[in-house]
Order: sequence, then structure tokens, then C-alpha cells
Amino acid sequence: MIAEDAQLHAMLTRLQLTAVRDRLDALLEDVARQDLDLRQTLAYLCTAEIEHRDQRRIAMGTSIAKFPFVRTLDDYDFEAQPAVDAKQVRDLATSRWVANGDTVLLLGPPGVGKTHLAVGLGRAAIARGYSTLFVAASALVADLAQAHRDGKLDERITFYGKPKLLIIDELGYLPFEKEAAHLFFQLVAKRYERGAVMLTSNRSVGEWGDAFGDAVVATAILDRLLHHSHVLTIRGESYRLREKRRAGVLRPINPT
Ligand code: ADP
Ligand code: MG
Repeated sequence: MIAEDAQLHAMLTRLQLTAVRDRLDALLEDVARQDLDLRQTLAYLCTAEIEHRDQRRIAMGTSIAKFPFVRTLDDYDFEAQPAVDAKQVRDLATSRWVANGDTVLLLGPPGVGKTHLAVGLGRAAIARGYSTLFVAASALVADLAQAHRDGKLDERITFYGKPKLLIIDELGYLPFEKEAAHLFFQLVAKRYERGAVMLTSNRSVGEWGDAFGDAVVATAILDRLLHHSHVLTIRGESYRLREKRRAGVLRPINPT
């Protein structure tokens, strides 16, 4: 490396333009090939640096979020699921609701793509720069109960209170103990109008009282969750079963 190159390398490092630094030769070849002028060249290099940073930030945010699987909104087959309003999902993907600290409820029977959409919308929020955490409702409540026993409840509530978006999956699959409902209420109260919450559930909102095991606490929780909420109700058959049926693995349902 000649002295000038070494100096340029050092300056790019000092300015933390590491993507430009590491790909300098290739980027400058592109510049020459496209015959860019100086201003266009500067813009091209800045774009390369910014794209790299965005990618790194999204990868980091996605790993912190602890999604159960890799799914995007682009993978979602809206035609197979006419109960889902694609326009509403696209609108939610702008993440304005996250900025506002609203609630999104994804309701419907098993297998219709609630978790898929939750992960997709979570990724969209991360891309917009919002910290996101995904947790199964049962794991969340078990964790809060354990923290409560250990005298560390405040710490855990603060932990779950921090991300700009908290996704709680499968609420209502298992009914909560009365104490668990109380702990859950504390979390919801902590996040209320501060951080966005997305919930998936196989139960309708009307049935949540049973899931929380305590009508008074259920009302208090619902009051806060439903105040600024967007509801997506998905109907229909499990996507996978449907695909299997199509492929002839399962016999079609015969209306009798
Ligand atoms: P739920 O959370 O409602 O039980 P999931 O989101 O786990 O359902 O979906 C079950 C599986 O089916 C996942 O692998 C998901 O990616 C897939 N799936 C469901 N609905 C669709 C759809 N409309 N388009 C593409 N894949 C889908
Ligand atoms: Mg699910």
C-alpha cells in the first residue's frame, strides 16, 4: 500500500466510514465504470456507507428481538388469506402505530398466520429504527412470576418496558393464574401510552376475561390495551392444512 492509500485508509477509519474503507477499490471501480462526477461520487460512497449501517442495525435489532422464526411481510400470501386486509397491514408496516405507542391485536384460530404477521410487522418496526422484543405470553408470565418470587419484579418490568415495541404471542392459549394476571397488568400499565404492544391470541377479546382468571384485572388490562388499538381478525383454515389439502395429502372437507 502506498503512503497516500494508507493515509486515506486511516482517515476513513477515523471518520468511521468503514464500509467505504473496506470496499474502496470495488466502489471506485463502480464510480469509474458509471463515469460519475464528483458530487455523484460522494453521494454514491455515502449511500454505500449508509446501506451497510442500516443492514447492520437491522441485523442487530432482529437478533435482539428473539423472533421464533424468520418471516417477512413479503412472504405472506395475502391471496390465500382474504380475511386479512393487505392495505391495513401495509399501513401498519409504516410503524406509525409504534411511534404512537398504540396496540395491535392479531386475533384468529391457530395456523392462520398471526405469528407470521407479528414477526413481519416487528421486522418492519426494526427497519424503521424501533427497538423490538418478541416473547411468548406463557414465557413472559413465567418470567414475571419468577422475578416476583426473587424480589426482582421491578427489574423485569423495566426490562419488558424498555423496547419501543413488545410483541406478546399466544395470549390466552393458557389461562393465567390470578397472580399472573396481576403481574401482567403491571406490565401493561407500565407500557400504557409509552410503548407499543402487539398481541396475538386465538381468543376473541370478549373471552379474555376467562384467560386472565380475574374479571376485575381483565377489565383493567383490556381498558388500557383497547384504548388506542388496531384489530386484525383473521378467519379461516390453517394455512398449512390448506396447503396439504391442496397437495392432496389430506382429504378435502366435504360439506355434508
Ligand atoms: P398462527 O400464529 O396464527 O398459529 P403462524 O403464523 O405460526 O400461525 O403460521 C403457521 C405457518 O403457516 C407459518 O409457517 C406461517 O409462515 C405459515 N402461514 C400462515 N399463513 C400464511 C400465509 N397467508 N402466507 C404464507 N404463509 C403463511
Ligand atoms: Mg402463533
